[in-house]
Amino acid sequence: MARYLSLLSIVFLAAASGCQSNNNLVENIPAPNFNGPTVLSAVAVAPAPVQPAPQLKLPTRPGLVGDRAWIPNAPARPWKWIVIHHSATPSGGAVRFDKEHRAKGWDELGYHFVIGNGTDTGNGQVEVGSRWPKQKWGAHAKTPDNRFNDYGIGICLVGDFDIERPTAQQLQSLAKLTAYLMETYHIPASNILGHRDTKPTDCPGRNLNVAQVRRMASQILADAGIPEESAQTAAATELLDDPSDLEGILQTAR
Ligand SMILES: [Zn+2]
Repeated sequence: MARYLSLLSIVFLAAASGCQSNNNLVENIPAPNFNGPTVLSAVAVAPAPVQPAPQLKLPTRPGLVGDRAWIPNAPARPWKWIVIHHSATPSGGAVRFDKEHRAKGWDELGYHFVIGNGTDTGNGQVEVGSRWPKQKWGAHAKTPDNRFNDYGIGICLVGDFDIERPTAQQLQSLAKLTAYLMETYHIPASNILGHRDTKPTDCPGRNLNVAQVRRMASQILADAGIPEESAQTAAATELLDDPSDLEGILQTAR
């Protein structure tokens, strides 16, 4: 019953937000409720208003439009960064990259999101990688301490931006997705990084301007009247976080 009502509320909220996504609702069913069975009395009682589970946060404020498919169905991971990549290939998409990453012996597609360029998928189309609904660590930005894989959301734009430019549609989708992630996970603009900011690499190519992406995403939040997380607030939160507390959670998440 509770699941059914939650599902109804998702349908209602999705309709209210004007979402056009046709994605399967089953993807977004909230985590099971372990609070015990709901006992129904013989007398019909108006059901209490159903609140969506905290992890099913929908962008309800005007101006910031997210896609329902971006909402994971697992508790939020404590994301701290957004790391932008290019595929360094003229064409591709999540299905193709997933095959390639598995062929390398990886668990699955290493990125959390892929933004198409009109080859394998639509121009500016955002594909949600299989890790994201599970809120699984990434496999896209290896460093000695692995912090950008552990707490960085990996977004890959299809294209080789050393020799071509990202399309306007790709940049718009990237800015919208980034703004949504900044707001939802309280990530400051200063923590939007190119892969090259995490280690010596060309990725995401010399024609992808990360500062421009930060400005575009910040503008979307400003237009929607949404206050941005300041770098100072984020740094203070970081000081309060004891990484050893998180280790147990991460072990079970893996
Ligand atoms: Zn990269």
